[in-house]
Amino acid sequence: MDKVVSLCRRRGFVFPSSEIYGGLGSTYDYGHYGVLLKNEIRSLWFRAMVQERDDMVALDSAVILNPSVWEASGHVAGFSDPLVDCRTCKLRFRADKLEDAHCGRRPSKRPGEDAQCDLTEARQFNLMFETRVGAMQDASSTAYLRPETAQGIFINFKNVAQLARRKPPFGIAQTGKSFRNEITPGNFLFRVREFEQMEMEYFVPPAEAERWYAYWIEQRFNWHLGLGLKRSRLRVREHSAEERSHYSTGTSDIEYLYPIGWQELEGVANRGDFDLTQHTEHSGTKLEWIEQGGERYTPHVIEPAVSIERIFVALLCDAYHEEVVGDRERTVLRLHPTVAPVKAAILPLIPRNDEMVQRAHALRDELRDRFFVEYDDSGQIGRRYRRQDEIGTPWAFTIDDQTLEDETVTVRERDSLAQERLPLSGVASWLEDALRQPWQPSDE
Ligand code: ATP
Repeated sequence: MDKVVSLCRRRGFVFPSSEIYGGLGSTYDYGHYGVLLKNEIRSLWFRAMVQERDDMVALDSAVILNPSVWEASGHVAGFSDPLVDCRTCKLRFRADKLEDAHCGRRPSKRPGEDAQCDLTEARQFNLMFETRVGAMQDASSTAYLRPETAQGIFINFKNVAQLARRKPPFGIAQTGKSFRNEITPGNFLFRVREFEQMEMEYFVPPAEAERWYAYWIEQRFNWHLGLGLKRSRLRVREHSAEERSHYSTGTSDIEYLYPIGWQELEGVANRGDFDLTQHTEHSGTKLEWIEQGGERYTPHVIEPAVSIERIFVALLCDAYHEEVVGDRERTVLRLHPTVAPVKAAILPLIPRNDEMVQRAHALRDELRDRFFVEYDDSGQIGRRYRRQDEIGTPWAFTIDDQTLEDETVTVRERDSLAQERLPLSGVASWLEDALRQPWQPSDE
């Protein structure tokens, strides 16, 4: 993880936030390549969940909702984690995650393991961030930053189902920021207080809930495989009855083997009719489906929920490699080409040669109409290749002496380092085709 964090910082994927003011624990800002990678993750999710389906619509709901939403959903009363304080080291821990934490005085031990540890009884700590709406400062102005995007979907059920005449089974998908005042954020982006969720609520006739629950676990697992994550580092773990929320009849985590061990990447839950029933009771608006013949029912809900951050970390950990090529070391991100922040680099071999530069500029202009590409003319060619390897750029096109003679370029492949020559005029269609080819991690 340390190596990934340091690469992210060195190459401007991710910076610690507010750094010139001493930072703000576990808060991050995304730099250029980080933004590009996040954009790819979001758009691949949107493509699979909405663009390629007939049974899905998109939504973008507000971050701050009427506080009654969070009363109805149970978040005000119960969206909390158990908190313990250590009277000796003054640190706070999640009581249910002590096995992942370190004692403040003896980091090799767990909190509570050392004779001097003095932990308080666990008490519930609500994870919602409170804020105020408007100029009044009394209780009536209290509101919350959403801790999940899902509730914004449930309260729009009527708009979509009844007004847009969507018939179950159908889904509503949205991406957006969520906020949780986590007790122990950490492990880089894995657990942060501000993150971008990608959630979908799939509304189904009650009798079909089990079938759709199994379907979505499989769909989502395969989607992560399709991003290029190694199969050996992905697994599905079904929650035991004690672990599940009281309303859920089934919850499974798609877990990834992060450097900190197997952890939740995405959750898929069978939420029953809990959410629509709660909002019907609290709002007085019936959230149900009425069949043509007049039969009514409250649909059941299957929810796959994941954050861009957890995918971001999994992709980088999966792709990070250090290797020796010839007598040189290189760091390479073996990212799936479709998620790579930059799809191709365009490099004039001799930056002082005007003709080479001209042709490289022309190729860049042609390619950037369709792809995110990067032009680089600073430093030795070997160094330029290495800079691209480090950010995961799958291909580099080099304009050299031969280009000026026969209008061909060299294409260099990031993982195999193989080089071949292509006609300059065919580069755009070659790249388009290369991006459509199936891809698998080379070491699996
Ligand atoms: P955990 O048990 O790890 O706290 P959770 O079960 O509370 O997670 P959910 O409420 O199911 O998480 O949230 C859905 C998804 O949102 C998770 O699978 C994860 O991808 C993401 N997520 C949740 N909390 C965070 C966080 N603090 N930072 C980054 N991503 C998060």
